[in-house]
Amino acid sequence: MKPFSSRSIAAAVALCVAILLPSLAFCLDLTAEERQYLDASGPISYCVDPDWAPYETVTERGEHVGIGADLLRLAASRAGLALRLVVTKDWEDSLAQSKAGTCTLLNFLNQTPKRDAWLSFTEPLFIDPNVIITREGHPFVADLAALSNETLTLPKGTSIEERVRRDFPNLRILLSDSDADSFAMVAEKKADLTIRSMTVSVYTIKKEGWFNLKIAGQIPGYDNHLRVGIVKDLPLLRTILNKAIATITPQERAMIANKHVAINVQTALDYDLIGKIAFAFVLVALTSLFWIVKLTRLNRALKIQSQTDSLTGLANRASLNERFTKEIERSIRYGRPLSVIMVDLDHFKAINDLLGHLAGDKTLQEFAVVAKANTRVIDTVGRWGGEEFLCLCPETDAEAAMIVARRLCDAVRAHAFSTGWTHTISVGVAVLVNGDSVDSLLHRADKAMYLAKNRGRDQVCLEETNPQTEAERSNIHETAN
Ligand code: GH3
Ligand code: MG
Ligand code: MG
Repeated sequence: MKPFSSRSIAAAVALCVAILLPSLAFCLDLTAEERQYLDASGPISYCVDPDWAPYETVTERGEHVGIGADLLRLAASRAGLALRLVVTKDWEDSLAQSKAGTCTLLNFLNQTPKRDAWLSFTEPLFIDPNVIITREGHPFVADLAALSNETLTLPKGTSIEERVRRDFPNLRILLSDSDADSFAMVAEKKADLTIRSMTVSVYTIKKEGWFNLKIAGQIPGYDNHLRVGIVKDLPLLRTILNKAIATITPQERAMIANKHVAINVQTALDYDLIGKIAFAFVLVALTSLFWIVKLTRLNRALKIQSQTDSLTGLANRASLNERFTKEIERSIRYGRPLSVIMVDLDHFKAINDLLGHLAGDKTLQEFAVVAKANTRVIDTVGRWGGEEFLCLCPETDAEAAMIVARRLCDAVRAHAFSTGWTHTISVGVAVLVNGDSVDSLLHRADKAMYLAKNRGRDQVCLEETNPQTEAERSNIHETAN
């Protein structure tokens, strides 16, 4: 919806002031008889056209709105009259109710000889010229009487019908159900022209988006003098209303008309098409979302798979390498200790040979659980290959790493493996020194592990240190500082 412009807000405020202030200030010059009539009368019943935008319509909540509604209310409030709307199903029904006397007033209509039979009319509330509407290609119509073989469409029950049939017998008349239907019949080439009021034409063409229609001329003397019709036996009501109508200024009329033609008119929207586009958009968005979620999950699973050893569920060699490089960089950068524990299961070949490969696999899986349970969360335990495992221990010096390694050694020896055997491990520990790479550190851990094997297995050996590596180790802290 368009935001209201400051001009339209100013116009609305001016309109309110114009309507409210005068109704308080106006003091009509009424006769004693008229005052007596007003004092005695209750709310006056009235009928309207429920479908004649922008002149007047009745909303779903039973409110009478439009140019005619505002003008009638303005006149009634200045006269001090209370009104009561009698809702009807269409204009023909309103005419019938008026003839039957169900409603005292009939709002916003032209005076015609037929209507004079049961109504008296006030002065016009609003005067609006009638114009000729044709399709874009139709020539300008200077004189309706000069046309031949043209079809004119008009809504049923309008005052113009009476006059046109009398004044222009050269035209074929085709009746429609409403104003909108008349415009549609011309737009869709079912009729050549229609005659409607200027205000209704501008409003309907814009609202319905019939931009292949145009105003092709005006008919002199065919102005709409839109009045209030009053059942015949109430002359006092007519004079009171006329006095009130006489107080309405041209500016007030223009403001009321502008309010309903300018603000309420909206470009016709194809809600069906908008609905289809929105549905397609939602469908594409949902499908994309589904695939994004699915691919994200698959990628995550793939990444985990690429970093995990399928037999034991521990980090695999590629993941250990990546982690190792990062930990070495971090430890050197911040001058923090880093230890590597290399583990090899003792006499593993014998399990395969005597109990079979499946038992060997099972033993590796069980060892993985024991290893995980005996290391810290920040440590990375992984399978380096075959029956060899690595544990990276950040923030761990040689002394602490030896404690971890011995605890692991004890835990494996004490574990009740499903083979029913007691299994042991040989463990080598090496600690990061300045200038270490993944290979150099691993090499020293490997050497320490073989030292443990050579010393009789089921034990932990710290890398053999020489004065140079000792010096490098203490160097890490100095470099970092
Ligand atoms: P040591 O105490 O000297 O380490 O003796 P070992 O038998 O453990 O050493 P060796 O290197 O001779 O044998 C390792 C065996 O581990 C050989 C190989 O078949 C077995 N092995 C390696 N990976 C797997 C595996 O994934 N599953 C099984 N079941 N066996 C494996
Ligand atoms: Mg081995
Ligand atoms: Mg082994």
